[in-house]
Amino acid sequence: MIGMTAVRKEYPGVTALADVTLTIGRGEFVAVSGPSGSGKSTMLHLLGALDRPSAGTVRIAGHDVASLADRNLAALRARTIGFVFQQFHLAPGVTALHNVADGLLYSGVRRRERLRRAGLALERVGLGRRAHHRPHELSGGERQRVAIARAVVGEPQVLLADEPTGNLDSAAGAGVMALLHDLHAAGTTLVVITHDRDIAASLPRVVRLRDGRLVES
Ligand code: ADP
Ligand code: MG
Repeated sequence: MIGMTAVRKEYPGVTALADVTLTIGRGEFVAVSGPSGSGKSTMLHLLGALDRPSAGTVRIAGHDVASLADRNLAALRARTIGFVFQQFHLAPGVTALHNVADGLLYSGVRRRERLRRAGLALERVGLGRRAHHRPHELSGGERQRVAIARAVVGEPQVLLADEPTGNLDSAAGAGVMALLHDLHAAGTTLVVITHDRDIAASLPRVVRLRDGRLVES
């Protein structure tokens, strides 16, 4: 479904990833773990085509990312990939419904239909009754569920999540993990960065990074 071959990513003075080769199949649920600074976020951004590698090949749904023009890459990303971040990244002062509907802004879906699908996505994450609340009126766990609804409203095949429970207490984190398991059961491919050993151990596959290299895959 997604993967990389001999990928290197350099930032000025830093090799964030060195020679990483990894394939993630359709329907997998993969944990990515490793110490802070080991390259986890860099790897997730490359797998989601938010960034391009310095060397090596990244494949998304059969496409070599390097062969696509920016416009085609953006279209592939919009169709295939959903992203969730530790800090939620919701627009403040905007209702949950509109935050989620904005996940369809680049999909060519009309506004009325965007709002309808956003309502359904919020119901799917158990927040149908919070649709008209703004982020500051929601708990951390609820905000993250809104962010997940926004990431999946376009029905992406792959959901990438960068420490989605990192800012949550353990009860809210467990709620978010249960939701991710539901999405997995419905067929979504998931890659989730986590610092939490218990969460990593509970997932079928763990990929471990250290100093930009895979030490377990
Ligand atoms: P992790 O998510 O495992 O904490 P990252 O992928 O964020 O690690 O970072 C890996 C390395 O790359 C770190 O040394 C970090 O400082 C560096 N790095 C990440 N992003 C950038 C960037 N945009 N510019 C410069 N260095 C970066
Ligand atoms: Mg990170």
